[in-house]
Amino acid sequence: MKSRRQCYPSLAPYVPPACHCGGGAEQGQPFDKLRANRVGMIRNLVLLAAAGLSSAAVAAPTYIHAGRLMAVPGQAVRGASTIVVDGDRIVSVSAGFQAPPAGAALVDLRDRTVLPGLIDAHVHLASDRGGEAGLLSFVREEPQMNALEAQMNGMKTLRAGFTTVRNLGDDGATLALREAIKRGWVQGPRIVDAASSISTTGGHMDGRGGLNDDLVAHLPSPENLCDGVDSCRKVVRRQIDRGADVIKFATTGGVNSGTGLATRMEEDEARALVATAHAYGRKVAVHAHGADGIKLALRAGADSIEHGTVMDDEIVRTMKKQGTYYVPTLSTVNGYLERLAANPNAYAPDVKKQIDWRIGVTGQSLLKAVPAGVKIAFGTDAGVSKHGRNADEFELLVKYGMTPAEAIKAATVNAADLLGLASEVGTIEAGKSADIIAVTGDPLADVRVLKSVGFVMARGAVITAPAR
Ligand SMILES: [Zn+2]
Repeated sequence: MKSRRQCYPSLAPYVPPACHCGGGAEQGQPFDKLRANRVGMIRNLVLLAAAGLSSAAVAAPTYIHAGRLMAVPGQAVRGASTIVVDGDRIVSVSAGFQAPPAGAALVDLRDRTVLPGLIDAHVHLASDRGGEAGLLSFVREEPQMNALEAQMNGMKTLRAGFTTVRNLGDDGATLALREAIKRGWVQGPRIVDAASSISTTGGHMDGRGGLNDDLVAHLPSPENLCDGVDSCRKVVRRQIDRGADVIKFATTGGVNSGTGLATRMEEDEARALVATAHAYGRKVAVHAHGADGIKLALRAGADSIEHGTVMDDEIVRTMKKQGTYYVPTLSTVNGYLERLAANPNAYAPDVKKQIDWRIGVTGQSLLKAVPAGVKIAFGTDAGVSKHGRNADEFELLVKYGMTPAEAIKAATVNAADLLGLASEVGTIEAGKSADIIAVTGDPLADVRVLKSVGFVMARGAVITAPAR
């Protein structure tokens, strides 16, 4: 077992180029010397490329024997199959158990169901403390702690089988984590990040809510708030400049912030936010609870509605027509109930009132959206619920109207599409990233088996191997 593990490639998905061949430092050099340098540089590059090719040619691939294979969720499950992985890529998928050549590693999952790595389209990796405890940590802890906490939560998420996440807002901690993972410094899931979520002043993302005036006076003015068209254009550009892959904003107040569930944004502000994000090639995720706020987001052209707690028939029709994704985040209810069970005063009274309401209406929008054919992408809002327990959402999705097959498709094919990563993740097919998980039992018969993922491979590296 030990020697087999050593054969797995290291988790270094985005190793930066070893040689930065900028051409600007040669000014003032004689032409011949410059040309000689160039020739030498090209020769070195050719040698490097040849070395890379030969090392790739001798690198041992990994053969995975899958008892049952959900290669493309939504399509028929396959029987005995062999997946060949080389480096971070899936090289081939074929029927039967192919014998690995000498030197190749073998992962025996003949008694498992093998699926693509799961995708959670709505997380907040930087914390899952929540409630009054979360507010207190904001005051008492150094912000640098957030990046370390994000890394810990990222690993919990990855070990739970979620090899890709979309992180929808924090202070920038997860942007740093995304970069550290890309550089191979630390392990973690693939991260699509929104930098900081945007709202209007006094809205859901105004982190000064709940602080007294003295504290607020000493805080730098937040860079994630906007009021008016110009300000909203600017705040999107600022998040993109920080490295945001996607833009997230709130048209309504929020449950946890105590800002209420009604609309907290004007029409021109929402339109400016979406138009600017789209002009820069970024998709837009909109946090919206009340029906008016959802309709505002849809008129502005949102790509996904997050939470979408109150949906009427008009909303469902519009989402279907516009192809807007719904990300239900039903798991928030688990977070609320567990925190309140541990401490009835976990939330301030005004927040608690909203939480009670939210618990009472859980799943009502999903029950409308599914039969209407609205596209659903899996998202938990982990951070409100506990990290690493992302798969609890499957049970809730099935409870409120989805089949297990639809729920799994939402966490793979659909979420990959929403994240703009359909050519990279979401299915087990040749050419895609080697993000592969396995469970004992049949998730189509009982979706709860996805809560215990016994094998996780992320970009070709084994994170969790089955005990044998
Ligand atoms: Zn959220």
